[in-house]
Amino acid sequence: MKFCSNCGGQIHQLIPAGDNRLRHVCSQCGAIYYQNPRIIAGCLPIWEEQVLLCRRAIEPRLGFWTLPAGFMENGETLEQAAARETHEEACARVRNLSLYTLFDLPHINQVYMLFRAELVDLDFSAGEESLDVRLFHEHEIPWSELAFPTIGRTLECYFSDRHHHQFPVRNEPLAALRGHYKKTT
Ligand SMILES: [Zn+2]
Repeated sequence: MKFCSNCGGQIHQLIPAGDNRLRHVCSQCGAIYYQNPRIIAGCLPIWEEQVLLCRRAIEPRLGFWTLPAGFMENGETLEQAAARETHEEACARVRNLSLYTLFDLPHINQVYMLFRAELVDLDFSAGEESLDVRLFHEHEIPWSELAFPTIGRTLECYFSDRHHHQFPVRNEPLAALRGHYKKTT
């Protein structure tokens, strides 16, 4: 950012008194514009043996398959954000959400938090940000056409955990995603 949204003054980068990081600071009114990681909340919607994926209608990764997920908004809980994104992208309703995977992506300042969720019914369709929405059995997953490593890793965890009927919360290091960066890029 170049200009202050408060007074229109020029923005400079400096370390404010009492701080230890470079910040965007207005040279005129002194307003400090902090930048913090963004939370992406989403769902792994499940119907019997199948999982729901959305084909992206927007960049980045237009045309690739993803789980419904997006930026959390002010004034909502994480779970509300995940359910809202599922409704917006897949016009689907979910229940019994359980936090499942959590990924820190410090290189792009994002934190992914994805829930396992039951689809309420089969009444779903492509929302504005999706080209297509459908259910996949494990053997039908388009592994090479997934939008993001976090999505591939979450699906991999799910199909593995499903054999044991136990779904511990997985807070995984970036290294766990490496294989998916290769598969998806
Ligand atoms: Zn200012």
